[in-house]
Amino acid sequence: MCVAQWQSSFPPQPNGGRAWTEAGKALIYADEAQRIARFAHECPDIETGGDLFGYWTHSGAPMVSYAIGPGRSSRHHPTSFYQDADWLHDQGVRLYDRHGLQHVGQWHSHHRLGVNLPSAGDIRTVVRGMAARNWSRFLLMIATLPPHSDSPVMQNYYLVRPDGRHRPVRIQVLNGGSPFRTRPDEPREEPILRPAEGVHWRPGPMTPPARNRVATFPGAWFATEPGKARFRRIATDLEREGMACRIHLSGDGRGLRLSLPDAELLLGADFPASPPQLLSGARADGIAWTPSTNLVDWYLSWQAGAPEPARRHGQTDGERPSAAAPSPTPGAANDL
Ligand SMILES: [Zn+2]
Repeated sequence: MCVAQWQSSFPPQPNGGRAWTEAGKALIYADEAQRIARFAHECPDIETGGDLFGYWTHSGAPMVSYAIGPGRSSRHHPTSFYQDADWLHDQGVRLYDRHGLQHVGQWHSHHRLGVNLPSAGDIRTVVRGMAARNWSRFLLMIATLPPHSDSPVMQNYYLVRPDGRHRPVRIQVLNGGSPFRTRPDEPREEPILRPAEGVHWRPGPMTPPARNRVATFPGAWFATEPGKARFRRIATDLEREGMACRIHLSGDGRGLRLSLPDAELLLGADFPASPPQLLSGARADGIAWTPSTNLVDWYLSWQAGAPEPARRHGQTDGERPSAAAPSPTPGAANDL
């Protein structure tokens, strides 16, 4: 279950020396993922594979814009697959010259071996290839076939680091076809013989679940004009005090959670009519609140008067959340 060779030899990624980032997802066009599924489906008892071209997002996620299958001179065995080196090279040069797309990953099938993880050999192969080009990240996808031919092909995507550490990432599928694919099939690629109907895929069992996006409740206080003005004031005051703060939407989308150096505040659905709530059990008894009270002044009063244990969390200066400038637009403050 390995791709025993690394054969690409086209232009290196300019960001090859960039540090590893913690992106947790891979993006791919729906039609490209479907194409991979069809190739995998063609080989129920031997390995097959191909390569992934695209680019990297700012957060370090691979965007797969174009997936190729095995070239005609590929070699397929029950537990190994060797891509056609000339085919891979030519496709790499073509995609770079025409579209600026680069080699961001490989895929291969473990057909019905029942193994959704990359093998040690798979990782060694990828690490060798990355080292040769000084690449800092690479995408490896392992496809598996279910026991029954009409069940979906499973796709497991992994980000691999130069030291061989790797982890599964969730899949963000972009609807439709890649704008870079001008014809559905490549004559030099091994032909897909079976019709597309009946071939489906789904994220494999190693894939982390998609994150639930929390939506801002339309009537939330910070979505109103007075609420936005209020939030801008809070952001300005935090900046004035040099206070590190992270801001998140509350789970119901009706409030904001502010992670401040000594406390976590919830500005709930009925803020500012109701006072901010101190989370994690801290109390603010006796600190007066009216709807016109300045939030940061209120917080400073609490901070000055609170006994040490109530200032909770055990955070020291060294453990404080990293400084994040509060966003002036609450709707964009959703750190998800
Ligand atoms: Zn393998």
